[in-house]
Amino acid sequence: MALELRDTLSGEQRPLVPLEAGHVRIYSCGPTVYGPTHIGNFRSFLFADILVRYLRYRGLRVTWVMNITDVDDRIIANAAAEGTTIAELSDRWLEQFKADFAAVGMTPPDVLPRATEHIDAMTSLIQTLLDKGNAYRTDDGSVFFRISSWPAYGRLARLDPEQLQVGERVEADDYGKDDVRDFALWKAAKPGEPSWDTSIGPGRPGWHIECSAMSMRHLGTSFDIHTGGIDLIFPHHEDEIAQSEAATGQTFVGTWLHCDHLRLGGAKMARRVGNIARVADLLAEGVSPRALRYALIRVNYRQALEYTEDTLAEAGAAIERLDQVVTALSAYVEDRADDPEIAAFLTATREAFEAALDDDLNVSKALAALFDLVRDTNRRIADRRLSTSDAGRILELLRDLDRVLGVLTEASEALPAGAAALLEARAAARAGRDWAGSDRLRDELATLGVAVEDTRDGQRWRLLEPVS
Ligand SMILES: [Zn+2]
Repeated sequence: MALELRDTLSGEQRPLVPLEAGHVRIYSCGPTVYGPTHIGNFRSFLFADILVRYLRYRGLRVTWVMNITDVDDRIIANAAAEGTTIAELSDRWLEQFKADFAAVGMTPPDVLPRATEHIDAMTSLIQTLLDKGNAYRTDDGSVFFRISSWPAYGRLARLDPEQLQVGERVEADDYGKDDVRDFALWKAAKPGEPSWDTSIGPGRPGWHIECSAMSMRHLGTSFDIHTGGIDLIFPHHEDEIAQSEAATGQTFVGTWLHCDHLRLGGAKMARRVGNIARVADLLAEGVSPRALRYALIRVNYRQALEYTEDTLAEAGAAIERLDQVVTALSAYVEDRADDPEIAAFLTATREAFEAALDDDLNVSKALAALFDLVRDTNRRIADRRLSTSDAGRILELLRDLDRVLGVLTEASEALPAGAAALLEARAAARAGRDWAGSDRLRDELATLGVAVEDTRDGQRWRLLEPVS
């Protein structure tokens, strides 16, 4: 296989060679379910989605794991503020996350492990680190990772371990540690906080340990790809590497992939900046979920994505062009010989699309290849230079490439119930020159969300975007 990915740890772009032939194992840091997910998070999730889809399109088996952080300081604080339990609060926001990712066409991960359901995996990993001398207990019963025991610390983030700045998550963990750089693996039970009675004592897990424990539980001690936003490189992923490799003595991850920020109004999009755009809110405002998806995937993952007022409109226009060519090809009828050029043209398009994605998932270049095809196809349709079967072949290619992009409507679910009969009745009305009947049926179809247009190939229909 020819897919090359740029690994953050080595800084090199190199071919992906799965540890197990034909099977790629991927772990993505998922959401902390304390509130609604914003589009900055979704940019990172959808880049992993494109990776998973492309590997499957290439015929590889993929196991994709995305964790759900359902215990942390913010969840505890929000649950306390609402007077509810962390379980109720995180269940609620997990359901919202699932609804959001379904709406924007994200492939459901194969496993969505929850931290609170993997406490045993975390405590046994922590016990191993204690036994090996990479971790220590403090007086209150918390456990910390001893960074001085792990000389490779700082490689991912290219930091000098002696001059480490303390990350904000680390800083918050004031449990009497030996060295300010050390990070919490286990936080001793405190009044008013949830805790688990475990073999290493009562308490709750730190954030970093959950990703090591859950990735290794579901994917093995070494796996192929770990993804996340670049803000997770330090300290989260640095800590994951240290605690995993110190415990197992094996290379934790083959390839680290990090998605750059989504910037809104020029500033890094994050809750603390206050410029939040929540997926659920955008969709409730009537934003097309397909346009939102397109807007979030269209820029290469390693480049910052500037999200402006025009972003969604541009994405919507691109989706509209794709829908129009699909509609036109679906309706196209021309009794003429197949054009021998078409097969070569389709092969060249597919090759350009794949070559772009093979080059560290260059989605913008892949989209350029797709739109070259759209432009050429529109010209051929206008000039009636396609045979019916050539039109079918182009449509087939578009649908096939869309297995990776996920922005076209599904052919199978395209027509709402009852619409096919109305279209048939309308075709009959027009054949009988019953214009009033034809107009009435057009209105009825519109109420079902189907727009009809009359062309020399007969009726063309397309789905109207839902209002909300
Ligand atoms: Zn993580």
